[in-house]
Amino acid sequence: MRDFSADHRWLSINTATVRKSLGKDLPLPAILDACAARGIRAVSPWRDQVQAAGLSKVAQRVRAHSLELSGYCRGGMFPATDAGGLQAALDDNRRAVDEAAELKAPCLVLVVGSLPGALQGKAAFNDIAVARTQVRDGIAELLEHARKAGVPLAIEPLHPMYAADRSCINTLEHALDLCDELDPGRSGALGVALDVYHVWWDPKLEQQIARAGKERLLAFHVCDWLTPTTDMLNDRGMMGDGVIDIPRIRGWVEAQGFAGHSEVEIFSNRWWQRDHGTVLDLCIERHRSVV
Ligand code: ZN
Repeated sequence: MRDFSADHRWLSINTATVRKSLGKDLPLPAILDACAARGIRAVSPWRDQVQAAGLSKVAQRVRAHSLELSGYCRGGMFPATDAGGLQAALDDNRRAVDEAAELKAPCLVLVVGSLPGALQGKAAFNDIAVARTQVRDGIAELLEHARKAGVPLAIEPLHPMYAADRSCINTLEHALDLCDELDPGRSGALGVALDVYHVWWDPKLEQQIARAGKERLLAFHVCDWLTPTTDMLNDRGMMGDGVIDIPRIRGWVEAQGFAGHSEVEIFSNRWWQRDHGTVLDLCIERHRSVV
């Protein structure tokens, strides 16, 4: 297992972590500058932030700072109520793949979606099996485009508390079942983004990480699970402030040969109130001490 205590070469910042500073929106170019100024070598940007700043401008700034990407967030949200909706989702995902290619991202992270309308407060239907079929079909179609573009797709299983609205894939085992079905040859075009926040509790975690192997482990996301957690989406903890044994999970992942970035991804109403420089400095410190 790699020793992170002396430097932060393998730290990546998911840019949602500092999407706000002192409660105000922080534009992506400013985030990239702040990361580069601290010797942070990699980021994982969000589509909305990229769109707000302009794709070519962001690509240019990433290159100017010699930043690497650890992923691109995000594609997915495949389910819909009708054929038009399914097609619109697929078209949007193809654009996400193209953006990821332009940014030279090593993978497009997929938050696959679940019951259509649930995120807006009213699910159009309650058959989660239908949503899962739509997700499988959507990924199967997108995979062709992603292969041509050279952008691997990383399915991110989400904690079961999001099963109704954000993702009907809630365990690593389920995500890997889908990978095996759609990419039985383990070509490298389809894998998983493993986020400790979503999977730390899973009794099969170690076993399923071993099943995933190096070919399927495309991204590794860290933060912490706070007790109590007061908001289902935006109360993630800074590494070391919660109950996740991050080094143990990283050890399992690296035992498979994963040698990529450890990406800090914290959505937090608390940390977004702080100054982004302070947050980034603490991310570096905790990356070295508790990741
Ligand atoms: Zn994540």
